[in-house]
Amino acid sequence: MNVAIVGGGFTGLSAAYELVKKGHRVTVFEKEKTLGGLANGFKQKNWDWHLESAYHHLFTNDTAILQLIHELGLEGKLILTHPITANLISKPGFDFPGAAITLPFNTPLHLLTYPELSIIDKLRTGLLIIIMKLNPFWQPLEWISAKNLFIAIGGSPAWQSLWEPLMIGKFGTYAENVCASWLWARIKKRTQKLYYIQGGFHTLVSALQQAIKRGGGTTLVNTEISSIDKEAGNKYIVYWKKQKHDFDRILFTTSTHIANKIFPKILNTSTQHLLQIPHLHAQTLILETKKPILAPQPQKVSPFKAKVQNTGVYWLNIMDRTFPFLAVVAHTNMIDKKHYGGHHITYFGNYLPDGHPYLTMTKDQLLKKFLPFINRLNPSFLKSSVISHTSFLAPFAQPVHELHYSRRAPKLQTSIPGIFLANMDSIYPWDRGTNYAVELGIKAAKKIDEDAAESF
Ligand SMILES: Cc1cc2nc3c(=O)[nH]c(=O)nc-3n(C[C@H](O)[C@H](O)[C@H](O)COP(=O)(O)OP(=O)(O)OC[C@H]3O[C@@H](n4cnc5c(N)ncnc54)[C@H](O)[C@@H]3O)c2cc1C
Repeated sequence: MNVAIVGGGFTGLSAAYELVKKGHRVTVFEKEKTLGGLANGFKQKNWDWHLESAYHHLFTNDTAILQLIHELGLEGKLILTHPITANLISKPGFDFPGAAITLPFNTPLHLLTYPELSIIDKLRTGLLIIIMKLNPFWQPLEWISAKNLFIAIGGSPAWQSLWEPLMIGKFGTYAENVCASWLWARIKKRTQKLYYIQGGFHTLVSALQQAIKRGGGTTLVNTEISSIDKEAGNKYIVYWKKQKHDFDRILFTTSTHIANKIFPKILNTSTQHLLQIPHLHAQTLILETKKPILAPQPQKVSPFKAKVQNTGVYWLNIMDRTFPFLAVVAHTNMIDKKHYGGHHITYFGNYLPDGHPYLTMTKDQLLKKFLPFINRLNPSFLKSSVISHTSFLAPFAQPVHELHYSRRAPKLQTSIPGIFLANMDSIYPWDRGTNYAVELGIKAAKKIDEDAAESF
């Protein structure tokens, strides 16, 4: 069976790897110059390791991708880390103007010492987290919004203080409609310890590429597919380099919108609704700096009870919505800076709706916009510390799980025989993640293999 896979991210590569193991001929088409999709990496000349364009790590319960890493003989390259997560809040009256305060938020003790919440609110929030961790049933939770469930168990003050700013920062006008099963998935899957891979996720992408090649498959980069036709006898023609190439099966791993442009018949009247699933763009600004941005620094005495040093914080949630970014991820507070020429790497991340002004900004414009706020994080930070800055923008990077999402999520098999669709919208109830991309790729390969067996 000759299979074309459109998209060389983790779903496409995992599917290709599984299909070559089952003896199929596979070609992966990737429009970008590198494989890896949303988890793609880049490397500056003086770095030893690749760095993801968007911050990436693995949870210790990401079993599908950890199994793949094991199978490819890369488990020796896993790095287990225990980085610090924290929330940044700004508070009028804090003891230097415009200052912001960092509160660690990793452990139950951090919740218990969190300022502003009463002990009852803290206990209710703790109860919510325990229920989410223990409850295996997500299905009833898609009938209620994340907001209503949180308020019902954790209470309004905790919602307003701990979750609402992040939900609004991430989902904007969709925040109220996100279903509680999304919240369940976020809390259930989170582990305090995280894995990273020596050399970056690029190590795994390269190993997959080589394994596909060894199995007789092909991966093509810089190859954007714009059109696929159906021929008689369930053959499909993929056009590239102005030539026609025949395939028996097609797997789309792009967004449904792109798949629909390439092969407009992929959706019928009962699946047109897939185009209505809202999506957000992901944008990162990455700074390579001489001095750390989130680093140990002398702090003035805090009016709050919790400890406020932002020493070594890896992940900083920005709770103050006047900031122009949602999260700050200090990669080199998790991974040694020696792999990046001894420089510090910090991401500034946002999820943005269509039409947002940041979508058309250059990296210089983003840096100019962000600098005053970076100074609020670290008043001693100087622009002259920036060695390089890079921005990355990805459309369709975050689907919004609205109420009853399972009725809307795409199915692998489309209404067209021989054409399959496997993208981030399908991994429900889980949120996007390379682990689920691998799981989905494996599932898609199994389905294509079964479909091929049935046709003989
Ligand atoms: C900001 C951010 C942070 C994240 N952090 C993490 C994390 O910490 N840990 C984690 O596990 N996951 C994380 N993820 C999620 C993870 O990156 C994705 O879930 C996963 O990479 C999706 O893989 P995919 O193959 O399904 O899709 P994609 O990676 O989107 O792959 C689809 C591919 O199709 C290609 N394509 C599109 N159109 C065409 C065309 N016409 N012809 C050919 N090719 C085409 C695209 O270029 C792309 O490479 C993060 C994502 C984002 C956006």
